[in-house]
Amino acid sequence: SVPVAFLGGIAAAARQGIVVKGGNYLEMLAKADTFVFDKTGTLTEGVFEVLEVYAESLTESELLEITAHVENYSNHPIAQSLMNAYGGEYDASRVTQVEEQPGYGISARYEGKNIHIGNSRMAGLYGVEVDEIETEDTVIYVLVESEYGGYIVVGDRLKEDAKWTMRTLREKYHAVLVMLTGDSREAGNAVAKELHMDYAYTELMPEDKLEQMEEFMQCQYEAERVVCVGDGINDAPVLARADVGIAMGALGADAAIEAADIVLMEDELPKIVDAVSIAKETVRVVG
Ligand code: ADP
Ligand code: MG
Repeated sequence: SVPVAFLGGIAAAARQGIVVKGGNYLEMLAKADTFVFDKTGTLTEGVFEVLEVYAESLTESELLEITAHVENYSNHPIAQSLMNAYGGEYDASRVTQVEEQPGYGISARYEGKNIHIGNSRMAGLYGVEVDEIETEDTVIYVLVESEYGGYIVVGDRLKEDAKWTMRTLREKYHAVLVMLTGDSREAGNAVAKELHMDYAYTELMPEDKLEQMEEFMQCQYEAERVVCVGDGINDAPVLARADVGIAMGALGADAAIEAADIVLMEDELPKIVDAVSIAKETVRVVG
């Protein structure tokens, strides 16, 4: 049976918009020493903005028109920013054979032409040479019929409370901080550096996130209890495997919410600190 104090802890957490799916998760959270974060949408807003457009083989407006038409079929947070930058009319009949390629981007046919839109790994997959852009933002390449069409640079922002949350977990709770992302090395490392994360793993394929986390759990002899925090479909396996999986619930994917042990009803990182504090107090009372 569940000790009454654990029920009290679960109730206290619920009052703060923190849904805990069992008393044992409070116990594990109280002992947690390692926190693993997804980057996009968890540490950052996940709301991208187009910063630069470069058209190589077409006009800039053609590049944006093709990109927006194809991204119209994607749920990735980058897609919305690319559609905003276009702002024109859509003709759905131009787009066929849409295929999302997790970890790469999205492919489709547009007016009968093969289009691939994604990161440098996508360009590599189709053997297309593209400009290497030095930036701490995210570069999206557009390939038209296996030719370099251009690139679009998009940027995301750190969540306002990300610095405070990481600093508090590190200084008050002596946590080891880890970041996982499918984004580029430059973009990922820039975020990790700003937040003083202890470890950062970048350019991960969706399925690599779990493997990387398991490897980390094995290598780090001091990693006693591992908490993972994420929001996306790609994060569900990691949340399920962690000792304590925390989903950012407000905007999170259903799969992440389901896989998690704790769900934050608001998209607020400081709630993680609140959860740890409630967990420690609950365990202290139980004795
Ligand atoms: P994460 O959410 O961890 O950053 P993802 O696996 O969702 O990683 O995406 C990895 C990378 O793949 C993105 O940073 C982006 O470069 C590319 N990508 C994914 N989906 C799209 C899309 N719809 N359009 C363009 N690029 C995409
Ligand atoms: Mg994410």
